[in-house]
Amino acid sequence: MARQFFVGGNFKMNGSKDSIQSIVQNLNSASLPSNVQVVIAPPAPYLFWAAEHNKQPTVEVAAQNCYDKASGAYTGEVSAVALKDLGIPWVILGHSERRIIFKESDELIASKTKFALDSGLKVILCIGETLEEKKAGKTVEVCKRQLQAVLDVVSDWSNIVIAYEPVWAIGTGLAATADDAQEIHKDIRNFLSTAIGSQAESVRILYGGSVSGKNAKDFRGKDDVDGFLVGGASLKPEFVDIIKSRE
Ligand code: PEP
Repeated sequence: MARQFFVGGNFKMNGSKDSIQSIVQNLNSASLPSNVQVVIAPPAPYLFWAAEHNKQPTVEVAAQNCYDKASGAYTGEVSAVALKDLGIPWVILGHSERRIIFKESDELIASKTKFALDSGLKVILCIGETLEEKKAGKTVEVCKRQLQAVLDVVSDWSNIVIAYEPVWAIGTGLAATADDAQEIHKDIRNFLSTAIGSQAESVRILYGGSVSGKNAKDFRGKDDVDGFLVGGASLKPEFVDIIKSRE
């Protein structure tokens, strides 16, 4: 089953009007491969502005979070229904910074995922273990637990892209090796297969954690690495090299 290569850029809470304009312009002027799907996730205040300035047909925009309610007295939260209403197609959910800093539980992330999908959004669902969990040999167990919470409430995975992001690799410069990523992605796919059958073959599994213009090519030829979720390097011109890393 051919899965389209996918590169996501998570800007986190970074950037200004000027710096995001230059990232979008850099993408607009690049000759991007037509067979790579690209999704950029600017901070919420710049979301619609970035979407309006994007001229690349293969580039779409994602929110970095949304809530599991359509509207109401939830000050500061982002409505999936409002994102859809304004033409934002994607949302990142379950990022480790949301899980750790904002104490989002597996169940809340699962509920948000279901609500976002039901609202017509596509979801980049992040999973991954901390350094302590890795040292304790619990990498696959943690990924399965985080996925199981979503499997309990979602049966159609056609609008979900999974991002395996080991927490110890995020922003540290210590990327997982391509072999290790492949092995864990395979375990994740096998686990999904037992739950959702052949659908699992078409679910894209991205690797995230210190991916750069330099190391992206190392992951070529790894069958279950279907792309990347990129943090820091998505703010730099090397993001284009990552998008082109399969050429
Ligand atoms: C991320 O935050 O999703 C991420 C992968 O960050 P970085 O690429 O900077 O490690």
